[in-house]
This record gives sequence, structure tokens and C-alpha cells, in this order.
Amino acid sequence: MRLLIVEDEPRLLRNLAKAFREEGYAVDTAETGDDGLYKAENFGYDAIVLDIMLPGVDGWEILARLRTTQRTPVLLLTARDATHDRVRGLDNGADDYLIKPFDLQELLARLRALIRRAAGQPRADLTIRDVVIDTRSRTVTRSGQPVALTAREYAILEYLALHRGSVVSRSALYEHLFDETDDTLSNLVDVHIFSIRKKLGADLVMTRRGQGYCIEM
Ligand code: CA
Repeated sequence: MRLLIVEDEPRLLRNLAKAFREEGYAVDTAETGDDGLYKAENFGYDAIVLDIMLPGVDGWEILARLRTTQRTPVLLLTARDATHDRVRGLDNGADDYLIKPFDLQELLARLRALIRRAAGQPRADLTIRDVVIDTRSRTVTRSGQPVALTAREYAILEYLALHRGSVVSRSALYEHLFDETDDTLSNLVDVHIFSIRKKLGADLVMTRRGQGYCIEM
């Protein structure tokens, strides 16, 4: 999953980016509204964390511009006493909000829920035949036995499982799993898929030649 964080407090931005990366997300960051808007409009994100008070283009304008073209889940960060901000945010197409200062675990849980809901998967457990993916603990079992996946393997599997029934192109996988700080080589996805099949069954992830990968319904 790839996130965009738009936040002008450098320390908070750094801490959030670090925490999300530790959770296995690919994370792009923007310290100004203009940079945030540019990235939000030009890259595919699974969710956006958006501070309202920003220099230049503020969070309201970014939200309004985004909602003319896309449904990417947006979680707003609002100031403590601004009830009207929260109402305005939800009325204007935000999917959720948190009041600063917030608990990091709560932010992580809310984002997981937003991403699942956007994919039409309200449950935290994703079950594919004998394989169960727990998106809270980021763990996988097969026939009840834990299976150790690398962070990348897990990220690919979770993305395909959330988009079960759809063919996901290799370029979509790259866009959603690698962030602006990543310069790894492009054949890695195939290597990870090979490894996922070895651990979880050869026919779990199907290859559609020339199109991409798919976990069938
Ligand atoms: Ca701010």
C-alpha cells in the first residue's frame, strides 16, 4: 500500500513516515500544499493523510480538487478545538479525521480500515481458500499454520487479496508498493511472486500473460 502524507510540521512528518514504513507501507511525503496536491493528482495512492493548515494551498483546497477527479480515501488531521473543521471535512468528502495530538496506533488502525473499505473488504481477515491474511498483525496462515513472508511478499499478497477478482498489472503493483525513496530494480515483483507461490501454493496467484497478476474469486 502506498500512502501520501501532507504535513508541514517536519518532525511530525518524519515520525509518521518512519512509523508507516515500519508497518510496511510505501510512503511519499509533502511539506507544502502545492507539493501535496501535485503528488496526489499524479500518483496512485491507497490513502492520503492530509493536514488542514498548510502553507500555500491548504488541506481544504487539496480535498476539493481531489474530489472532482478521484475517490482515494482521505484522512484529515485537524486542530484540537475545531469542531466545525471536522464537520466541514466530512461534508466535503473526507473519509475520516483525527484530532492532533493523536495516538499513532489509532491512526494506523483507521488507515487500515479506510483502505479495506475502499477495496470493498470490511473485514480485517482476508480468507483465500486455506490461506488467511490478518491485516492487523500483517501475518499469514495456511491451514492454520503460520507462514513467514518478507515485508515485500506480504505487501504484494495483501494488495492482490484486497483486489481479489481483478487483474493487477505489474505497473500498478510498482506504483502501490514502492515509494519515491525506492530505486529497486523492476524484476523484483516476479521474484516475490515466485516466493509467495512456493510458500502458499502454486495456484494462489495466477499470472495473466501480458496483463498482470490475479487472485481469483
Ligand atoms: Ca499544519
